[in-house]
Amino acid sequence: MGTERKDVFKDAKRILVKIGTGVLTGKDGLDSKIIQQLVDEMAGLTKQGFQFVIVSSGSIASGIHRMKFKNKLQSLPQKQAAAAIGQGRLMRVYSNAFRKHELNVAQILLNMSDLTDRKRFLNTRNTLSVLMEWGVIPVINENDTVAVEEIKFGDNDNLAAMMANIMEANLLINLTNTEGLYDRNPRGRENTNFISLVREVTDEIEAVASSETDPLGMGGMKSKVIAAKKVTAFGIPYIIAHGKRKNILHDIFSGKETGTLFLPMIEHLKSKKYWIAYTLRSRGKLYLDDGAKDAIVNQGKSLLPSGIVTVEGNFCVGDPVSCVDANRVVIAKGLANYSSEDTDKIKGLKTSVIGQVLGSKPYDEIIHRDNMAVSKQVKK
Ligand code: GLU
Repeated sequence: MGTERKDVFKDAKRILVKIGTGVLTGKDGLDSKIIQQLVDEMAGLTKQGFQFVIVSSGSIASGIHRMKFKNKLQSLPQKQAAAAIGQGRLMRVYSNAFRKHELNVAQILLNMSDLTDRKRFLNTRNTLSVLMEWGVIPVINENDTVAVEEIKFGDNDNLAAMMANIMEANLLINLTNTEGLYDRNPRGRENTNFISLVREVTDEIEAVASSETDPLGMGGMKSKVIAAKKVTAFGIPYIIAHGKRKNILHDIFSGKETGTLFLPMIEHLKSKKYWIAYTLRSRGKLYLDDGAKDAIVNQGKSLLPSGIVTVEGNFCVGDPVSCVDANRVVIAKGLANYSSEDTDKIKGLKTSVIGQVLGSKPYDEIIHRDNMAVSKQVKK
């Protein structure tokens, strides 16, 4: 066993397992044998003291199978309808499988908007902790029925990444229908090399991940690697492994070289900053001069009005905004202390004149450092 794997599993207790549609379904719809196989493993490990939370796909595929549709559904409402048909069935299969081990499951359906609001984010976290305290296994999926394009998580890889943060997981295992990450998409190709360890999700690693998906899956390898970036930035190790492989979870926990392990970044973002960086959608953009960029990126400072060149978008006090440099590269994201209108009035000015211009000065900073996630880890 490599030292990395040993280190990763030393203290792992709270485990998030994401199971993809490609693992859960076969040509006859939901594959209850595979689900039972995975549940047996999780139940065994639960009795050894591990706590599991599952993010499970499969509702749409299950619904499609129930309706005996032959072709892939095209429109979003059709997929939503299929999810509504399949979700209950999906839960029933999990529930029966865990019941054999006298364990209970709980269904949690979420949308992006449930996590972008800090209060609802905290409520979700509280519910999860109670369920875990009770020894119940939460089974989470996107609330597909009410999701519309712009509020969709995009895919369950992303949802799992966010949940790993919320439940403060020690490990995220993403079970899919491939062994892990290859340097090229292995389907139908030779000369591909398996990557068993990723120390940092660099641009090259992102580039090798193929965006090809299964007919019924949504994310493909690309979204799994993007999720890896978020998860490891939060200090959580992440494994992509083959979910149909027998004893996969035991193999992982016994440190066998299986799947692709992404090591956590040492300096991880604190929960609040992660929430700002990855959960919130920016409402506006602030273009910064080089001085402000340096103060934020290299000196750990807050953003003052003097460093702002241009204000874009319509945002209110407390809204998330992105900070970009002269090349439009996002260098930070944070919660604004002033509305877009007021920020525009005081941009480029010294802090000491804010009161004169606006009539009052509730804050010195446009974004305080405590409410800001900086550089590398920030997207959009
Ligand atoms: N929520 C979808 C389902 O349960 C799957 C989304 C995904 O696979 O990423 O069918």
